[in-house]
Amino acid sequence: MWTAAISIFPRMFDALTGGDGVVGRAIARDLLSFRVIDPRDHTDDRHATVDDRPYGGGPGMVMKAEPLTRALNEARAAAPGPVTTVFLSPQGRKFDHRVAAELAEMDCLVFVAGRYEGVDERFVRREVDLELSLGDFVLSGGELAVMVVLDAVARLLPGTLGNAESVDAESHADGLLDHPHFTRPASFGGEPVPDVLLGGDHGAVARWRRKEALGRTWQRRPDLLAARPLDADDRRLLREFIADVPIADTME
Ligand code: SAM
Repeated sequence: MWTAAISIFPRMFDALTGGDGVVGRAIARDLLSFRVIDPRDHTDDRHATVDDRPYGGGPGMVMKAEPLTRALNEARAAAPGPVTTVFLSPQGRKFDHRVAAELAEMDCLVFVAGRYEGVDERFVRREVDLELSLGDFVLSGGELAVMVVLDAVARLLPGTLGNAESVDAESHADGLLDHPHFTRPASFGGEPVPDVLLGGDHGAVARWRRKEALGRTWQRRPDLLAARPLDADDRRLLREFIADVPIADTME
């Protein structure tokens, strides 16, 4: 996958590409290419101005459309195919696993990180294919949001993770939360690991994990269950889980 970010703070991305973590590994394995294009390199004045005061007055500055458009054109010229332009914005579609999976299918992505009060609306209207929000809060800039999205997308690229299975079992991959995890020691703080995980019966372990995943989703994110039909086996496992929950816990 070919990707680029348009940002006036290119060094922020060192944290992403420095070699640690999933994205660094995906780059090292040539599964992902990533570059940052600085709109300041696409300005004509000696101050390399990328922002200006808002028409109509008011606080803050607005990112100018010309340097962003030229930076995007540099990205288009460098990309091996047509690019999809993603603008990170608190006004966009909310980012989730489904969006990450859609983006992971694309060949060339350009992420635009806003700053200040945002970006001249004409750039957004003319050039942006998708506005993406991390959630209902406001960040100071789009760089962290780009990195979050890229990390989530990179781990879905085949070959990025050592064990491909781990993606399928993770929270949200099939509309459920992940089951709980335990590692050694077998008893910690007086709390033992569930017996079934120590018994070596793989079928029983798989069943327990499925039941816990269903139960956790029911307890913590009932909205996910409401959006997802369960087959008869899952319904039975969830009933078993619910039957084991102390009554007080179900009344919260
Ligand atoms: N004035 C804008 C508004 O209220 O919609 C917010 C501008 S914010 C201070 C600057 C930049 O941070 C945005 O252009 C965007 O790129 C990024 N940003 C802020 N919150 C974000 C969020 N929730 N998701 C994705 N990007 C965000």
